Amino acid sequence: MRVSRVNKFIRVGAALLSIGLIISGCRIVHESEDPASKKPTPQGQQQYAGGKQQETKTNLNPLLKQEEFDKVKKYERNHIIYNGPKDKKQVALTFDDGPDPRYTKQVLEILKQNDIKATFFLIGQHVKQHPDLVKQEIDEGHTIASHSWEHKQLPKLSPDQLKEDLNKTRDAIKEASGKEVMLMRPPYGDAKGIGETIKKEGFLIVNWDVDTNDWRGRTPEQMFEVIQKFTGNGSIILHHDGGGNRSNTVSSLNKTIQTLKSKGFEFVTVDQMLGIRPYAN
Ligand SMILES: [Zn+2]
Repeated sequence: MRVSRVNKFIRVGAALLSIGLIISGCRIVHESEDPASKKPTPQGQQQYAGGKQQETKTNLNPLLKQEEFDKVKKYERNHIIYNGPKDKKQVALTFDDGPDPRYTKQVLEILKQNDIKATFFLIGQHVKQHPDLVKQEIDEGHTIASHSWEHKQLPKLSPDQLKEDLNKTRDAIKEASGKEVMLMRPPYGDAKGIGETIKKEGFLIVNWDVDTNDWRGRTPEQMFEVIQKFTGNGSIILHHDGGGNRSNTVSSLNKTIQTLKSKGFEFVTVDQMLGIRPYAN
């Protein structure tokens, strides 16, 4: 009698364990979805990938030195970097979709007044049109990087088209600035299924963990609220200095910088935050 009761307990226990495993299995499958495929959340916080992840074990990037790979690999989730070290009080401001003569100069002026360096993810077509602005970004000590040729959703391109897009953009930036960029941000943060290809072309993929949602027409107050709420050590903050009306971005910037400064954050470029070179040359 006692033995059969014990058996019953074992059977019930095993059943509960199986249910638990099934549930946690579902969660792992869900969490391993490529976070880059998700649009930025209304709250402005990019979700971190959790659970089971595709780990980066070898350096696929021919331009990235082994010592640089060793530094960045711990920040990569499905081939994408979302933030830097959590043990340093540093943040990186990033600006996408420029250069744009309407807003880039204003952003550069604010950064200069505050003695801050930022990272600009450039559209190849815009670089061709405004090489002087790219030169100014370099001359003023900022980091420049790629944001594709014309802001297409890169996973929709064929492998050859993707490689052509990446290299055409890098060549245009090199022609304008003399720099062979190593950092890139895919449009919409979307590198689903193409992370390895991008790396093999010599790029490091950098998204963000704080999204101001300025491209959604947020007011300066709303952007500021998101930054206040979500910025922490190692945050990479997304703004835009092109691709639409960015006057609210420009208006919000001074207050953002002042507040983060008063909280003790140091502003660095993405390459400084990760401890790697921004350019291959
Ligand atoms: Zn963009």
